[in-house]
Amino acid sequence: MRPISRAVLRPYVCQTCRHGIGAGRRRFASQADSPDLYDVVCVGGGPAGLGLMAALRASPITSKLRVALIETQDLTKAQAWNLEPTQYSNRVSSLTPSSVAFLRQIGAYDHLDVDRVQDYQDMQVWDGQTGSRISFDWSMETSPFEDPRAVATMTENANLVRALLRRIAQSGDENLSLFSNSTVASIETGSDLKPEGPDLSAWPILSIKPTGPGESTPKRIAARLLVGADGINSPVRSFADISTHGWDYGRHGIVATLALGDLDIPPFPASKRTAYQRFLPALGGPIALLPLPNNNATLVWSTTPENAAYLKSLSTPSFLAMVNAAFRLDMTDLSYMMGMSSSSDISHQDELTWRTKHTVLPSQIPPPATAVQEGTVASFPLRFRHAAQYVSPRVALVGDAAHVIHPLAGQGLNLGLADVASLSKTIQYAVSHGMDVGDLLTLERYSSERYLPNAKIGGACDLLHKMYTVPGEGPVAWARSLGLGVVDRLPFVKSFLMKNAEGY
Ligand SMILES: Cc1cc2nc3c(=O)[nH]c(=O)nc-3n(C[C@H](O)[C@H](O)[C@H](O)COP(=O)(O)OP(=O)(O)OC[C@H]3O[C@@H](n4cnc5c(N)ncnc54)[C@H](O)[C@@H]3O)c2cc1C
Repeated sequence: MRPISRAVLRPYVCQTCRHGIGAGRRRFASQADSPDLYDVVCVGGGPAGLGLMAALRASPITSKLRVALIETQDLTKAQAWNLEPTQYSNRVSSLTPSSVAFLRQIGAYDHLDVDRVQDYQDMQVWDGQTGSRISFDWSMETSPFEDPRAVATMTENANLVRALLRRIAQSGDENLSLFSNSTVASIETGSDLKPEGPDLSAWPILSIKPTGPGESTPKRIAARLLVGADGINSPVRSFADISTHGWDYGRHGIVATLALGDLDIPPFPASKRTAYQRFLPALGGPIALLPLPNNNATLVWSTTPENAAYLKSLSTPSFLAMVNAAFRLDMTDLSYMMGMSSSSDISHQDELTWRTKHTVLPSQIPPPATAVQEGTVASFPLRFRHAAQYVSPRVALVGDAAHVIHPLAGQGLNLGLADVASLSKTIQYAVSHGMDVGDLLTLERYSSERYLPNAKIGGACDLLHKMYTVPGEGPVAWARSLGLGVVDRLPFVKSFLMKNAEGY
């Protein structure tokens, strides 16, 4: 953590003495070098950073604050994002009902293209090794006369980012600066003491460098509160000297957009959609198929880097056969197919057809994947990181800058939005009570609200990953099957888990 500078104590020194100190100091910086002053500067225009800006602009209490956002990527491209109605991006997230409620509250949900989002009401999760299963059916929680309750809402990250940008644009440009195509070149603690203005000697001063051609010259800006929404390698976190702990899982998440065939038995009610996740201990992690509109689905398959490289090297029919096999075959068959040579005379599809005939299929399996949308197969390394703290004087971290978790429960972005909801409330509280938004005492409120819930969910995902990567029939597998089987039979425990999955 940065040492608390003398300037933090300055509000407790009387005005006259303060000015006395200032007048006695020689000034080396000309007025032209003075940084532009902002109340809140957010580095990072991903879902977390844009969510914070949209929330601050939406509240009448904070809408008059002078705010800036700095993003390396081109935000005009993100705002103009447009795909054919039949095409879906491969970066998709499941939003919990509490994230959806927050987006509605700040007026961003209305800007989502709802034809591209998909609710699901049922979740089938099972262990490919032991066969033990747990099912979460939210449609059972509602009466037949209501729309079934959604466990989560699938949305492309790009659809969400565009909605947040539109919401921010709707709030007008007064007191708002969006520095797109710009990167933070350096951050330092201010040293200039202005007798007539705020003391900047404890303020973070950012130097901004354009990353695209035609952008304006470098700028220096000073932040009363600097928010790091700048992802896993957060420069803001480094500036604040906040350490992280964590590890790399040695796993990659394969993503792809798939078209599905029809279910053998049509769902009831007809509008009910299901998410499927099967843990594959022998292959290093779970495979999940989450619904998108028009019988499409997004794939997230966590597996070893070797398996990921193998899967990405396959032809489309072989890749589809492997996805279908992963939801149907037992571990031995699957491990065999994962090593098949692509030059072999027998195709992955033939192998799957033959092995399926000799397999007792799990009771609830997803419809077969029938096509892969071109260019959507990609992979990302999976990591766990947690910042030692979320705040330091004049600095707060949100989203992946504060925590990165395993995606097996689809919670990373939801935790980021919950951070943003909490931080924007904290800033509102400070403004309405005449407090300094960057003061450590102000920020403690945010940190105490978010640190433990994030640690709890990140830790639970980590534990699940570890439990489900132990192959074989040993005690861990036995405990696993006991765990899922027992939970499935205990309505009150299940209901508790369902509430957690909803983000409440
Ligand atoms: C395979 C996979 C599946 C996932 N599925 C889900 C899911 O279903 N549900 C869910 O909730 N989460 C999911 N997640 C997690 C989710 O994608 C992330 O938690 C979320 O995108 C993080 O958002 P963020 O805004 O915090 O960070 P980011 O999206 O990383 O944004 C950070 C931004 O900061 C900018 N930036 C960085 N450095 C600078 C700089 N120096 N100057 C200016 N700008 C800078 C970057 O350009 C970037 O735009 C998944 C993750 C993976 C890998």
